[in-house]
Amino acid sequence: MVNGLSVDVEDWFQVGAFEGVIDRAAWDALPDRVVRNVDEILALFAACEVKATFFTLGWVAQRHGPLMRRIVEAGHELASHGWDHARVFTLGREAFAADVERARKVLEDASGVAITGYRAPSFSIDQRTPWAYDVLAEQGYAYSSSVAPIVHDHYGWREAPRFAFRPLDGSDLVEIPVTTAEFAGRRLAAGGGGFFRVLPYAFSRWAIRQVNGTDRRPAVFYFHPWEIDPAQPRVPGAPLRSRLRHYTNLSAMAGKLEQLIRDFSWGRMDELARREARQALDLAA
Ligand SMILES: [Zn+2]
Repeated sequence: MVNGLSVDVEDWFQVGAFEGVIDRAAWDALPDRVVRNVDEILALFAACEVKATFFTLGWVAQRHGPLMRRIVEAGHELASHGWDHARVFTLGREAFAADVERARKVLEDASGVAITGYRAPSFSIDQRTPWAYDVLAEQGYAYSSSVAPIVHDHYGWREAPRFAFRPLDGSDLVEIPVTTAEFAGRRLAAGGGGFFRVLPYAFSRWAIRQVNGTDRRPAVFYFHPWEIDPAQPRVPGAPLRSRLRHYTNLSAMAGKLEQLIRDFSWGRMDELARREARQALDLAA
């Protein structure tokens, strides 16, 4: 069972938890950590001989063209994480279409490859954005991995399927939700984030074994470059809950990631989307 490995490429100051205290207009003046962190991730993936998908902000691609080319030259998939991390449900249909079009053009110009995958910032496609998949299909995306079928304080679409589905009639567009685990009567996003970084690694291993063994489906895992960076600048004035969530266990993250990569089989999201369409969706139809 080959699972999907993904990195959401944004810098430490672009996370949703800090949007109330860091002004977007200040971004260009803040210390850049994304290049060194992504290069470290590329080295880890090379050492583990694994390929992955890098869902990257257009804002980052515009400033770091050589990094985009290093990702592609190493055999990874470059995909879109939107322009500047505006969550989809805060945009209307027109603004969302402009956001994803602008991001894709800059990613394609920087890398020289076609962009066919999309991940919404903070898994922000949900019941409030019924137009989002129409926009992605119109713009030629093959798949999206933008849904968390859970309830969470920042995100979640409880009614969404847990595994790959086709959100539109008459379109091949595939949605691959982030992996969830049912634990103590709750459904949790078990494909990364605080679940992976804050809880002991054994929880994540258990969750992925459940998905692969009991559900017999591939897991989808994600992390961020800032999660492996204990030396990132600290954000004063952020809410305590955000700071706890953001800074816990950063120094242990790289070792945990290496363990995860070695304990399971991983690959790119575009390949996972094609396999899911063939093996799960087309056969069921
Ligand atoms: Zn993100």
